[in-house]
Amino acid sequence: MTENTSITSRPRVLSGMRPTGRLHLGNYMGALYNWVQLQDTYDCFFFIADLHALTTDYADPSTLRQNIRDVALDFLSAGLDPERSTIFIQSHVPQHAELHTLFSMFTPLPWLERVPTYKDQQEQLREKDLNTYGFLGYPLLQSADILLYQPDFVPVGHDQIAHVELTREVARRFNSLYCSQPTPAIEKARADHSDKEIIAAEVAANNVTNGILPEPKVLLTPSPKLPGLDGRKMSKSYNNTLMLSEPEADVRAKLKTMVTDPARIRRTDPGNPDICPVFDLHKVFSSEEKQAEVRQGCTTAGIGCIQCKGWVADAIVSVITPIQERRRILEADPDNVDAILWDGSARARRRAIQTLQHVRQAMGLE
Ligand code: SF4
Repeated sequence: MTENTSITSRPRVLSGMRPTGRLHLGNYMGALYNWVQLQDTYDCFFFIADLHALTTDYADPSTLRQNIRDVALDFLSAGLDPERSTIFIQSHVPQHAELHTLFSMFTPLPWLERVPTYKDQQEQLREKDLNTYGFLGYPLLQSADILLYQPDFVPVGHDQIAHVELTREVARRFNSLYCSQPTPAIEKARADHSDKEIIAAEVAANNVTNGILPEPKVLLTPSPKLPGLDGRKMSKSYNNTLMLSEPEADVRAKLKTMVTDPARIRRTDPGNPDICPVFDLHKVFSSEEKQAEVRQGCTTAGIGCIQCKGWVADAIVSVITPIQERRRILEADPDNVDAILWDGSARARRRAIQTLQHVRQAMGLE
């Protein structure tokens, strides 16, 4: 495959996903669907974050290989296009690990300790020992993932803005330390050993110098609320998912078990769609007309929940059927999938090597 140079003048975006196995509809609507649209406008880099998977699942990597393959199949069948996007595996670009190490030299420890997900995840994943350096350092690895490709934007939902902010701070600190003469304000703050003032002075200085690592901006993308079958957020850990590759019969059978408005006990009881998780799915997958029909039928007891769930199943099946057809074609040709990942990783490495050359030089390593 030849590199498509016509896309390189577009603004660049970069995003990645942990290989946790086949993707569910929450993964699809929260990220992958948006990525597919971004390809029309941006020079896109999308990666499978296998190193990140090891930060929490280091003790048992036995499923990692298959999970990478499953996520790659979901990426491609959902519409990521290797002719327009660089699709690659994180660990196949060793510069991610090198940049992470270099960043770790100058990143203050409290920056990592204060990341909200650090404590949250340790609480949520109590069955795993996450008292490791890799887990503490994963937001810094994320910063390396991003800054390696010098993207203009990082597409995220509302809840991930803080992660990009850390990346911006790391870029700022790097640029301030290695890419500009320290301003008098920075020198004074360093002499006073005042971390707060050093950072404030670095921010001020960075407003006038861009440096080697430009600060990426957040590109807010829609991340609709997608409930699982039990009404909680759709998540593998809750075992309440509908997979992108779920067979139609299973989609329909699973949806029949989905929780509804708990006050609607009998068919003759009117319901309230605004507190019903099934209606949340309609809001994402059904047309405005169908949503109006559901609201009217539900609030007047004109339709039953089984009929309503059948309609949302129809809408979901119409979205996933073409994706599953593409997946079947890709599954029949695993060498082609390998070649796409191989080629994407080679393209990513070429870009990463350029950045690393500048970074190494700035840090006195050439
Ligand atoms: S009719 Fe539909 S929206 Fe109304 S309670 Fe039943 S499943 Fe929910």
